[in-house]
Amino acid sequence: MRLEIDGWSAGLKFSACHLIPGHEKCGRLHGHTYAVHVRLVGRKNEMGYIADFHEVKELVRRLIDRLDHRVLIPARHPSITVIRRRGSVELLVGKNRYTFPPGDVLLLDLPAVTAEQLSEYLLDRAAPAIARLGNVSELQLGLCEGVGQGAWAARKF
Ligand SMILES: [Zn+2]
Repeated sequence: MRLEIDGWSAGLKFSACHLIPGHEKCGRLHGHTYAVHVRLVGRKNEMGYIADFHEVKELVRRLIDRLDHRVLIPARHPSITVIRRRGSVELLVGKNRYTFPPGDVLLLDLPAVTAEQLSEYLLDRAAPAIARLGNVSELQLGLCEGVGQGAWAARKF
């Protein structure tokens, strides 16, 4: 049996800004409204359900609140240099230089900020709590960067 939460309908959304160095269009700083979708494959417990929808949504909400309204920076991208100064974070991307207040950016330990990378990033962070539910055999997590386009990552327990 499968439990499914649609992030657009359930309000699991966040807005953030990013760029993809080297990409003709996406190399410019731009934003998305993202939605996170969850599918849990598993058995019903003695209460008759796979997981409490509210608990799963709160888990995801805590994860995405960190990303919401931030500039997401892939700290491991080979073409991005991050310089932390007092009161600012500076990015050197090719010939471009961006300066942000530290509170506006989130440095992610990722080689790129793409739907694929973000879905795996969130999956890694959601999986331990989902695995503890005991009766879930697989977590599938989808990250859409707009309606109808996204990436899914999955982990079996
Ligand atoms: Zn984008």
